[in-house]
Amino acid sequence: MSKLHIGIDLDNTVLDATTAHLTCYNKVSGLSLTAEDVSDFYIYRMYGWDQAERNQIYHRHGHDIHSSSVPYPLAPETIRNLYSKHQITIMTARPAMFRDVTVKWLDAYGIPYHNIVFTENKRLECEAASVDVLIDDAPHYANEFALLNRPYFLFHQPYNTTVQHEQVRRIFHWSEVEGQLALINSILSSQSPIP
Ligand SMILES: [Mg+2]
Repeated sequence: MSKLHIGIDLDNTVLDATTAHLTCYNKVSGLSLTAEDVSDFYIYRMYGWDQAERNQIYHRHGHDIHSSSVPYPLAPETIRNLYSKHQITIMTARPAMFRDVTVKWLDAYGIPYHNIVFTENKRLECEAASVDVLIDDAPHYANEFALLNRPYFLFHQPYNTTVQHEQVRRIFHWSEVEGQLALINSILSSQSPIP
């Protein structure tokens, strides 16, 4: 198996960000939304907030939100396994002001990586860093990667259920990731020019 460069998102891909955000946003708003209510990638919109209101709340509480998040089953173990064979770049859209809490969280759960990038434009970063496959929950990246003809592992969430494309592989559980990567790896190696 040849070495892949794998980009991995954090929120709602490696860890349950929905629960951490709902806990905080419910406290701030007095509402009591649950994970079953979440149908929007942008959770704050369900509270009727605009982006400025959301930013204010997020900047104040982001540290707690990110430090209290819990990884999905088998995510840390799988990433540890992948790290020994592949190049791992953590790719998060969190603002750089949350770098410290993010790095501490990854350390606390023993999640290794070669590089970490804080970016709102993962497509650009993936192209610049020659990332072979991105694992993420965002529906808009699925469409962008499909257009680029690049493989994309879409971590299943209620707000991305309608996304479908040949290049998009839907992941329901971290136990599926290594098998899916092996498939991608054999496809990519068969496309490589013979030396
Ligand atoms: Mg995410």
